[in-house]
Amino acid sequence: MDSSTPLIYIVEPYGGSIRRHNAALPHIYWDDAAVTRGDGVFETLLIRDGHPANLQRHLDRFQSSARLMELPEPNVADWIDATRQAVEEWSQRTDADAKCVWTYTRGRESTGHPSAWLTITPLGETVLKQRKKGVKVMTSPRGFTIDTSLPGVEEATEGGTPEPAPWLTVGAKTLNYAANMAALRYACSQGLDDVIYVDPATGRVLEGATSTVIVARPGRKLRTPTPGGDILPGTTQAALFEYAEEQGWRCKEKDMTVESLLDAESVWLVSSVRVAVRVTELDGRVLPAPANEDEVRELINAALGAE
Ligand code: PLP
Repeated sequence: MDSSTPLIYIVEPYGGSIRRHNAALPHIYWDDAAVTRGDGVFETLLIRDGHPANLQRHLDRFQSSARLMELPEPNVADWIDATRQAVEEWSQRTDADAKCVWTYTRGRESTGHPSAWLTITPLGETVLKQRKKGVKVMTSPRGFTIDTSLPGVEEATEGGTPEPAPWLTVGAKTLNYAANMAALRYACSQGLDDVIYVDPATGRVLEGATSTVIVARPGRKLRTPTPGGDILPGTTQAALFEYAEEQGWRCKEKDMTVESLLDAESVWLVSSVRVAVRVTELDGRVLPAPANEDEVRELINAALGAE
């Protein structure tokens, strides 16, 4: 078998059976809500040194996403088991970083049963290149805004309320990523790599199309836009802040503007698989490498390996 062939494990939502699936064969039906409506949730995890990085935070967000989408509670033990089996098999092929995606959908309209599976694939060339060379980024409005004063939004984004505003999916990592992918294609068409969304009404920096924004400031300080509401709480950012605090950095969630990105020591996009890519250009302005570039990168890598 080609070492880049994806591994697929089906996770039966009822009964807990986990079975390996032949990647050359289809496994989704035409009437699955993932296909017809983009209706489901997912998590993307980094597989490093034979382990899923940051596993507990991914499990927590997965459960909270499912709750917000009113999907049946995923069986955490099955997901851990399936991930362990898949990672063990993958690790026999290679010890290079890999990407694991958990997908959990509302399932087939004809049966009403959710569908669930995970995949492991190698990292793409683009990810590896961006980790090394950084990314050129444009800022842009997201194209829609979420009124965070609507009833239930604040509680919903923390995943804890029994009665979140039922029509909202903020705070859930849903399969609905077509607009984010379109934004990335647009950035590419302009010779750029990524987009940072900015709220046009307030000038508040939100997040990358698939990442969390982190700013390093002089004096070993890290800042990130306050997660929640229209900013997906990132597992990488959470791991980074916990670990960096232990290492003597001062970390704060704080609203910020594009100007504060431009005068930062360094700006980073962090997410599970890319881990940390430095923003080397923002809206055409070059952001020079700081003296502590390697230190920050190692801090983020260590944060993911720390668990
Ligand atoms: N924000 C968005 C919109 C994302 O899609 C992602 C990851 O895919 C993140 C933030 C970063 O999240 P994490 O660090 O958990 O991968």
